[in-house]
Amino acid sequence: MRHVHLSRSVAATAIIQPWDYVAMRRAAAGLTIGQVAAMLGGRAYERHLRMLETPGMRLKLIADLTIAMPFNHDVYRQLTDLPPHQHPLLCQRCGWDEHTDVPDHLDGLTTWSRADEAICTRCEQQAAA
Ligand SMILES: [Zn+2]
Repeated sequence: MRHVHLSRSVAATAIIQPWDYVAMRRAAAGLTIGQVAAMLGGRAYERHLRMLETPGMRLKLIADLTIAMPFNHDVYRQLTDLPPHQHPLLCQRCGWDEHTDVPDHLDGLTTWSRADEAICTRCEQQAAA
C-alpha cells in the first residue's frame, strides 16, 4: 500500500515565503526585532531585520541570524530562489525544518508531529500545554 502524506503536499499547506520564515523563526524564539538586533550587534540591525520580514523582500545577503535563534540559511535561500513546489518542508506554525536541531519541550529534539504532519512536535506540545 502506498503511503501518501496529503497534509504535507504543497496544495494542502500554505506557502511559507522567506519573510514569513524569518518572522516565524523569530516568534518561535520568543524574541522581538530589538532583541535580535541587540544579539547581532546593535540597533543598526533593526532596519535589516524589518526588511527581512517585509512582504516581497528577498535579500541576497543576510546577517547570521543563527547567533540569535534557530535559523537555517539554506532554507531561507531555497525560499527566495526556488518555486514553491521545490520549497523545503517546514512546520506550518513555527518554520522549523528537519535539518535544524531544536530542543522540544520534553527534553528531546523536535521532529514531525505524528498526529498532524504539517506541524512539529514542539508546536504540538505547545498547543497541548
Ligand atoms: Zn513548529
